[in-house]
Amino acid sequence: KPGTIAFLGLGHMGGPMAANLIAAGYSVVGFDPMPAAVEAAKAHGVPMAGSAAEAAAGASVVLTMLQKGQQVLDVYRGSGGQPGLLELAAPGTLFLDCSTINVTEAQEAAQAAIDAGHRAVDAPVSGGVVGAEAGTLTFMVGGQDEDFETVRPMLEAMGKRVVHCGAHGLGQAAKVCNNMILGVSMIAVSEAFVLGEKLGLTHEALFDVAAHASGQCWALTTNCPVPGPVPTSPANRDYQPGFAGALMAKDLRLAVNALDHTGVSAEMGQLASKIYDEFAAGDGAGKDFSGIINTIREQSEP
Ligand code: NAD
Repeated sequence: KPGTIAFLGLGHMGGPMAANLIAAGYSVVGFDPMPAAVEAAKAHGVPMAGSAAEAAAGASVVLTMLQKGQQVLDVYRGSGGQPGLLELAAPGTLFLDCSTINVTEAQEAAQAAIDAGHRAVDAPVSGGVVGAEAGTLTFMVGGQDEDFETVRPMLEAMGKRVVHCGAHGLGQAAKVCNNMILGVSMIAVSEAFVLGEKLGLTHEALFDVAAHASGQCWALTTNCPVPGPVPTSPANRDYQPGFAGALMAKDLRLAVNALDHTGVSAEMGQLASKIYDEFAAGDGAGKDFSGIINTIREQSEP
């Protein structure tokens, strides 16, 4: 096992992930500026430091699980006159970022780490809080082969699938591509159910056909946006997440940034981003993203 892992960002995802690392026998020191996160982490048995610098002192891995790319870059490079961890950490420290951020930000962060004499890996996750708690996350990893091999056992302590997607930033690339499929397909499935309702088709009949035909997809067969056909889907509990609309809106904005950056023409991805931004700005932020079906129904003619 490596030396100590400095774990920065013990929120909804980071808290249970850190607890799973400890359960697997890793030495972890956490830091989070939010008192509630500190208390929750301590309750999970995660020792906490008073600052990021204190957590990183003597660590061989700096793991970040933050909301935004700018936060990751600030931790790495410093902000507000404070030195960053790239400057403070021991040479050759492995900077492992599990946050979901822009592909370009991940590449910038990795390059900054390498320029400062360190190693870097991006490893965003899917699987949500439930996956973080159960240790069943999927990690999408970008970085060099030997660094991937170093982080693989750590990631396996927190997840069940670890995929090396390529060079720096390509973990984030896989994440935005996957979630663009998910956003577009959930809208498509929801539109089809509302059309079926108007045409007099029962939810069960449409599900029985599409789930075994060419319309089959995760949005239909696992996260079905109508109650009934899939009893475990969020539609059966008034759209409690699951995967919150705010997070889908965020991930689709990252996808649109990547589309704009590369010049790819993707009208469906662009439109899905606009639809989920509006959903999250209304009452959809805290609802499961499959709740988009209610917006589609409300916007349809009576
Ligand atoms: P969160 O807001 O619950 O946790 C982020 C934590 O980072 C907070 O506790 C915050 O206080 C802390 N933080 C901020 N600045 C810090 C700093 N400088 N040093 C240390 N800690 C700092 O967010 P989350 O839901 O845990 O999500 C984290 C990341 O994982 C995001 O990028 C998100 O998009 C991604 N993600 C979330 C989910 C999910 O279901 N929540 C699923 C997949 C991916």
